[in-house]
Formats: sequence, structure tokens, C-alpha cells
Amino acid sequence: MADRQKTREDTELFTRMVASKQGWVLNPDTEFYSTLVEGLMRNFNRYGYFLCPCRDTEGSREADREAICPCVWSKLDVPEYGHCYCALYFSKEFASTGKQPAAIPDRRFS
Ligand code: SF4
Repeated sequence: MADRQKTREDTELFTRMVASKQGWVLNPDTEFYSTLVEGLMRNFNRYGYFLCPCRDTEGSREADREAICPCVWSKLDVPEYGHCYCALYFSKEFASTGKQPAAIPDRRFS
């Protein structure tokens, strides 16, 4: 368990900072967003890092390195599909279409 537990507020702040840094926007579906924030917070408080809320741990921070949010694949998925694998982050262009995110392939093991 992490020494310092993250609150929902901490986790929301984290997602806002990631979105701002990457030039992305957050999923506007507040219920869905809230579920993902819950998953990220739970992962942080369980493993000590923000493991992707849509992926399982491989057992250590080192093994999970690429799957720590924002995962390495998001840099490809957001431009290509308009959103990351979890659909937590959208590109601004995709968000402006008002479209719903679709299921996309997980690049982790491909
Ligand atoms: S798919 Fe990547 S960027 Fe999206 S929530 Fe999971 S770790 Fe974060």
C-alpha cells in the first residue's frame, strides 16, 4: 500500500494535469469519467502508482511501467482513434465531434 493515499480530488487533479500537459480533454461523460477516476485512485492506493484503470497489473512498477497513466500507447491512440484505450482522455478534435468513444485494440500485448 502507498504511504500516502490519494483522494478522489487528488486523482481528478492528476487527470486534469495530464490532459492539460498533453493537449487533451477529459471524457465529458461525467459518470463514466467518475468510474475511471475511481479506478485510478484505487490502483494508486493499492500499488503506489497510477496504473491504467482498464488494465491489470503485471506484478511490479517496473513491469507496469508502460501502463502507468498516461500510458505510452495513449500517445498513439489519441491521435489515431481520438481517445485513449480507457476513453478517459479525448483529443480536442474528437471531443468537438460529440461522438461516443468506441472499443479500440489494446496495444499493450500486441
Ligand atoms: S488508456 Fe492510458 S491514458 Fe487512458 S486511462 Fe489508461 S493509462 Fe491512462
